[in-house]
Amino acid sequence: MMKTKIALALMLAAFALTPADAAQKKKKKGRSAKPARTVQVKKTPKKVAAPVAAAVPQIPRADRAFDAATIQFLNALWRIDPASAIAAGKYDTAATLQVPNEASRIARLEFINEWLVRLNKMKPQEMSIRQRTDHALLVNKLESDRWTIETFRPWQWNPAMYSIAGPIDYILNTEYASKPQRLRTLLRRLANVPAYYKAAQENITNPTREHTRLAIRQAPGNLAILDEVERAMRDSTLSNAEKKLFRQRLDAAHIAIKRYVFFLEMLDRQQVAANSARPFRIGKALYDQKFALEIQSASSAEQTYQKALAARDEILARMDGLSDELWPKVMQGVQKPADRFQKIGMVIDRLSQNHVRREDFLPEIRRQIPQLQEFVTSHNLLTLDPTKPLEVRPTPVYQRGVAGASIDAPGPYRPQDRTYYNVTPLDDLTPEQAESTLREYNHWMLQVLNIHEAIPGHYAQLMYANRSPSIVKSLFGNGAMVEGWAVYGERMMMEAGYGDATPEMWLMYSKWILRTVTNTILDYSVHVLGMTEAQAMDLLQRQAFQTRSQATEKWHRVQVSSVQLTSYFSGYSEIMELREQRKRALGDRFNLKEFHEQLLSYGSAPVKMVAELMQ
Ligand code: ZN
Ligand code: ZN
Repeated sequence: MMKTKIALALMLAAFALTPADAAQKKKKKGRSAKPARTVQVKKTPKKVAAPVAAAVPQIPRADRAFDAATIQFLNALWRIDPASAIAAGKYDTAATLQVPNEASRIARLEFINEWLVRLNKMKPQEMSIRQRTDHALLVNKLESDRWTIETFRPWQWNPAMYSIAGPIDYILNTEYASKPQRLRTLLRRLANVPAYYKAAQENITNPTREHTRLAIRQAPGNLAILDEVERAMRDSTLSNAEKKLFRQRLDAAHIAIKRYVFFLEMLDRQQVAANSARPFRIGKALYDQKFALEIQSASSAEQTYQKALAARDEILARMDGLSDELWPKVMQGVQKPADRFQKIGMVIDRLSQNHVRREDFLPEIRRQIPQLQEFVTSHNLLTLDPTKPLEVRPTPVYQRGVAGASIDAPGPYRPQDRTYYNVTPLDDLTPEQAESTLREYNHWMLQVLNIHEAIPGHYAQLMYANRSPSIVKSLFGNGAMVEGWAVYGERMMMEAGYGDATPEMWLMYSKWILRTVTNTILDYSVHVLGMTEAQAMDLLQRQAFQTRSQATEKWHRVQVSSVQLTSYFSGYSEIMELREQRKRALGDRFNLKEFHEQLLSYGSAPVKMVAELMQ
């Protein structure tokens, strides 16, 4: 789910700010250089067994039927949802910009209902584990899509979901075909831009102010990508007639975007005057439903929130003790404040001065990867494949501003592409901004970042997922499992004594996990319990030791997204619970490495499903 819908939505939102000067603008505000903790999911190389090839005798009949249905389903899906196809690396339908009107929604709902009927007639209990989990993920994806269109209805209240930049950016900058061929695809795609924004305008009835403002902020990014297309077109081998048509369509697209912005500005003014804007808080009923569909947890949203509160108390108590332990060593001669938040904050602040030099940021990350690999292997945590080294590289310029650090794995339709660890260099930052980022990713935090993103976090998980090739999981796998594993990986390393288990390492790890836990508390508190901005800023800054710019950024994110912020902690806490339960069940026979490898062998299936399969 996360991999198409959310990744795409995030990509559309982020890319709109990315191209050219919009990205620069963002950087100048010092907001983009912080490594985000999401995997920038571009999917993993996967292959589907062709139905004929799958006709090996020992493969259950239900599996063959399901594999055949999967291929048909995906072919049909890419036709009806070309934007998701592009995000997945499939460009056959890229020339079609779908107009988001009533007709396309009806067609989509018919597609969903048809496939749900078909999938629900199958017998998952007769399938092997991979197919059974794939089947559940497909059903969930369709139910989630239907709920989004019929119940959640962001197409009526989120003007920022209408953005043409992401797919254009992909077509322009992915070398899936020759440049002239890609430009001709763009030429055809541009024809629908005016109709696209006209439909958007008709759909928007009562937006939230936050999403309206986000859409207005994204507009320059949309215009910038058109300019980028224009430059590429001008320098190309296209004929003069094609170039002429291109200019006409680019002009019309420019006008359509500007009209849309004008419409939003007018609407916003009316809403302010009438005090009638839709609240950005989605409320308990929608939150619970969205949580159930997206997170696919065994716990409810409220139970997860309660778990996060308890985890927070534990973390703060530990940080309190660690700060006392460290005080004489690092705060010598300074009066210790009575307030524990103040005390912890002072120790963190002092320790943060220990960081690499700006020019060493990327080389240091590169240096650490083999060390992490060695630690994981020598501590019997997980078998790693040394023949597939991870390549650390500076984030390609056109992708910057999306995330400061991310694993960039090729889409399932581009298996020949490599997996990279993208790190945005600090080159474009002012000295103050660079210092702030370096203090955040100080000596200890940089190691936690690498653990989360690379080994044993996202990169290791992707390698395991690839061993049980499932195109369904690579496209619609569970985001809470993916993020939960990376967060669990941090914990696993600390428990194994990583970083010599010094109090400094534990304090910084605690700060990091506190951010994860706080994300869950914030999301639920804001959307369900009505937490105010002032309360949110206090929670993030004073009680979770975040900088003002980090806290502001998070406040913006929680206003325009919901539930996704809980995925990290939700997946993590379920993996921890599963581990404890396996320990109890197996007693002396419990083996940590075997547990990890078994857990990862199911691909990105939801943890609750993995728990059933492990019994
Ligand atoms: Zn992550
Ligand atoms: Zn410094």
